[in-house]
Amino acid sequence: MTFRGHARRYRVFRIDEWPVRRQPTATLVLLTAVEVAAGVLVLIGLLRLPPDATTGREVLGAVALAVLGMLQTELATGIERVRRRVAHSSYFDLSSVWTFAAALLLPAGLAGLVVAAIYGHLWWRVWRPAGAALHRHVFTMATVVLAAMAVSVLVPHGVQGIVSVGTIASRIAGCGILLVAMLVYVLVNQVLVAAALATSSSTRVPLRSMMGDWDDHVLELATLCLGALASLAATREPALTLLVLPPLLVLHRAVLIRQLEERANTDAKTGLLTAAAWRSRAHRGMVRSRRQRTTAALLILDVDHFKVVNDTHGHLAGDEVLSAIAGTLLAEVRDADPVGRFGGEEFVVLLVGLPDGPDGRVQAQAAAERIRRTVHTLDVQVDAPEGGLTVGELSVSVGVALQGLDGDGLDELLQVADYALYEAKRAGRNRVRLAGAGPDLPGPRV
Ligand code: GH3
Ligand code: MG
Ligand code: MG
Repeated sequence: MTFRGHARRYRVFRIDEWPVRRQPTATLVLLTAVEVAAGVLVLIGLLRLPPDATTGREVLGAVALAVLGMLQTELATGIERVRRRVAHSSYFDLSSVWTFAAALLLPAGLAGLVVAAIYGHLWWRVWRPAGAALHRHVFTMATVVLAAMAVSVLVPHGVQGIVSVGTIASRIAGCGILLVAMLVYVLVNQVLVAAALATSSSTRVPLRSMMGDWDDHVLELATLCLGALASLAATREPALTLLVLPPLLVLHRAVLIRQLEERANTDAKTGLLTAAAWRSRAHRGMVRSRRQRTTAALLILDVDHFKVVNDTHGHLAGDEVLSAIAGTLLAEVRDADPVGRFGGEEFVVLLVGLPDGPDGRVQAQAAAERIRRTVHTLDVQVDAPEGGLTVGELSVSVGVALQGLDGDGLDELLQVADYALYEAKRAGRNRVRLAGAGPDLPGPRV
């Protein structure tokens, strides 16, 4: 889990593009505190190492792990070059194999040093040439240092101390500690990254964005498993650690496939689902709703007078507005509700799991009204050559159709909701119109 993983999907939270000096004070304080804590703890850890033969062997082990980590980066850079030709999504490093192995094998100070060496090399070979923001990489490194040190403290006698002791019960307990170590490693990272995301955004960060991607977690888990195996191999025969490299490279290729799939399903400008991906998720959502005897509501939203935004402030400002509205949609609906960009300035949302009957309709209308109101209060900050500007006074018109009440199939619902949207536009814009509600709905209440 890295700062990067989160930033990839949600355009509004792309703190990677912001220079560090423009971060909110709370974020700056957090970044500094985490980085200073990591540096000081590594230093204390190193000063506490006894000057004996064991430390000598551990220093050698640290050098070997750092070199393996760098070797992997070099080999993966080859795959990356192929990948960049077909996909532009961000680099995914699997260095936790070596940083987690270091945490399981070495004293805390040395484990921290291995992380710093691998991340320093990563910065030099991958992130610096890609023009990434240094402060983000340093923060990610500091979180990994702290995660590795936490694991190292949890297993003070190394991995050999927890899995190679006598009785079956103690060996099972050892495996349990190994699992807890994985959990601690992930949690320390996750909590710090989520805190940075939460402080850096002026709007409420959706929980799913803070928690990161499920796929990313599975990948991280696979990497940590390889890290645990690498550390166990190292305790038996250090040369065997090299066996981890081939599966690691295959894993890296698997990431390529996943990223291509994700890219194909994601609208680049807003981070929402593309129309095709949304249709397939919405279809599944409707089938599930029917099976669970609940209902779903389909919302089509069209930004009002969006052409004026473009004409007044330029297309780049228009793009920022689309991005901000997309962020609002994600924040205002539940995680299970698919949100897509249907076309230019049109969005679609499926609200799933609503109660059947009139209650469902009431809840769908309330959600649509909530979205409409929030969009109307948006002030979108836009960078412009002549200085920053704020775009406000935005509004959306929304058409709503209910599964079962207004139609059964997805296409049917889309058609009915689209007609309701058209009605909302005709009635004066900035309003929600439910399918079949007649022409006399009240006007907008801001
Ligand atoms: P209405 O209230 O009737 O919806 O008016 P409108 O101006 O929003 O609608 P219209 O269909 O006349 O204009 C939509 C505009 O959206 C025109 C198009 O240039 C702009 N647009 C579509 N896609 C994008 C995009 O990706 N970025 C930007 N900046 N503008 C876009
Ligand atoms: Mg339109
Ligand atoms: Mg429009």
